[in-house]
Amino acid sequence: MSQFSSPELQQISQKYINEATLPELAKPLDKNEPCARHYTISPADAQGHLFSVQLRIAFPDKQQLVRLPSWIPGSYLIRDFAKHLNQLQAIDDNHRPLKVTPIDKATWQIDAVENADGSIAAMNLSYQVYAWDLSVRGAHFDESHAFFNGTSVFLEVVDQRDLPCVMSLKKSPVCFKNAWKAATGMPPIEVDHHGFGHYHAEDYLALIDHPVEIGSFTEIEFRACGVPHKMVLTGIFDCDLERLKSDLIKVCEYEIQLFGEPAPMDSYLFQVMVTGSDYGGLEHRNSTALICSRNDLPYHGMEQASDGYLQFLELCSHEYFHTWNVKRIMPQAYQNPDLSAPIYSRQLWWFEGITSYYDALILLRCGLIDQETYLKLLGQQLTRVYRMPGRFKQSVSESSFYAWTKFYQQDENAPNAIISYYTKGSLVALALDLTIREQTQGNKSLDDVLLYLWDNYGKVAKGLEEFEIETLCSKITGIDLSDFFAQTLDGTDDFALEPLLEKFGFKFVLRSQNSLSDIGGPESGDALKVNFGANVVDASNGGVQLKHIWQDASAQLAGLAANDEIIALNGLRVGNKAQLEALLKRKQPGDTLECDYFRRDELRHCTITLTEAPLDRVELIVNESEPASLNWLDSVDLNESKTA
Ligand code: ZN
Repeated sequence: MSQFSSPELQQISQKYINEATLPELAKPLDKNEPCARHYTISPADAQGHLFSVQLRIAFPDKQQLVRLPSWIPGSYLIRDFAKHLNQLQAIDDNHRPLKVTPIDKATWQIDAVENADGSIAAMNLSYQVYAWDLSVRGAHFDESHAFFNGTSVFLEVVDQRDLPCVMSLKKSPVCFKNAWKAATGMPPIEVDHHGFGHYHAEDYLALIDHPVEIGSFTEIEFRACGVPHKMVLTGIFDCDLERLKSDLIKVCEYEIQLFGEPAPMDSYLFQVMVTGSDYGGLEHRNSTALICSRNDLPYHGMEQASDGYLQFLELCSHEYFHTWNVKRIMPQAYQNPDLSAPIYSRQLWWFEGITSYYDALILLRCGLIDQETYLKLLGQQLTRVYRMPGRFKQSVSESSFYAWTKFYQQDENAPNAIISYYTKGSLVALALDLTIREQTQGNKSLDDVLLYLWDNYGKVAKGLEEFEIETLCSKITGIDLSDFFAQTLDGTDDFALEPLLEKFGFKFVLRSQNSLSDIGGPESGDALKVNFGANVVDASNGGVQLKHIWQDASAQLAGLAANDEIIALNGLRVGNKAQLEALLKRKQPGDTLECDYFRRDELRHCTITLTEAPLDRVELIVNESEPASLNWLDSVDLNESKTA
């Protein structure tokens, strides 16, 4: 008898079971053996986007609970992965169907049937997971590739979370047809040359911390400080792979040396999904899942790194840095997380903000960009803070606490109501680094805090309690930083970066925008004198659509709202964003615009009185007249600093 009891499941399973067999695993003798929890997964149905999963529990409870996470570590949103799990069925080793009862939206109880001698036979569960989320946080499967996070597909055996398990990747017809390979950071037990076969996870949290990419990907392999690294890229793209490889080596070697050898991982894998316009990454213990635009990859003949490529390198640098900062140096609350409900922390300013500060700084330190480019990137990062009126309403500490709602569920009012713990956190990191360097006359820096946290927390798997980092910063540097943190973490006023940067030889300049697409950094072209007060995009059927409305600026004061579509200004058609910008360039504060627009399908009219453009774009300039008294951006000799 098949372990599948419904005809549909039998059909799907037979389709690939006939064509793919896995090496036999020895039967476990007790609960502690990895194969006492054996997960088998196969990309079964490309058209239906269905993974087929089996879970064999060798030593179940009489009433065995199984559950799927509601969120994935590193991404603070309840995603309810269980909504994509279907057809959960169970039988035991004696071919008896077992009763499956839902307990809540993500938990099920499987009732065993006792044997005559009172023992309980092993349970075999089977189910399907629908995978149509092309992101780094879920699962996606069609004829082009298959990708999954364990949080989307693997049920946790409740009360056996800390025990090791086996994951088996099984080929299906689509794998054979396309000669697909598999790539994961999970340690293999026995796999074929395409990467299918058995893998080992030390516990359930390890099982879900190793996403799997299956497809006809392009591979880049290299060693960084002796550690084997691989990048696999899936999608339609062209790329100067040699350039990408040599740039990645520099980033990875720098980061390993920054924290000190040996690296905490035996190998590392970058899994990249290349699409038309996506961007994002999620960190794991020895891998990262990335999604990027094909235009962000380097092309043959590219001399100066494009803005898109710099963004991609920053993303790689960022996620790789998390190998230390958040995957090992981590809040205590994240160490053995309940994945059914939100976990709150005020520490994300450190884990995302410090990481965001270092991601670009490392590109400078390892020689991939020059100081001018770094200052441009930093100016743009600071602009993301200074553009947001919400920074006066929410502290970065609150931003971290409310990650689950306000940050991860941003709406059209977000710029007015919240501040990002990534951007404001990186501003705090900059201010903290410069403050430490200044007050210790250059003898210490933020690097020292990082290394202390690595040695005393990350390496020994000791979690950080809330507010502990603030206390440690003072302890490590010998500076009383309590006022600094009260102001930067809990306060909502702007921190005075100008005088601090001046000591390091840089001018901090706030200027007005010179175009509707001005993201900060060096000025180019004439400034706009007026503030339209909205983020706009080209509307799909002509005109411009307002995405976000800035509080107390022209658009809002005229009565315009998010999603309104402007079709004409002063009686002339506005076909796109460029036309709006050309019009605004000619205007002075106080000028008016007669505006025709649609709200939903209703044609409306208003008069916009243009307010003055605010100084909210940040530009950092080398101060030629006053040389620096302290060093910040000059190269850091890691070997020297380690022995010092
Ligand atoms: Zn991050």
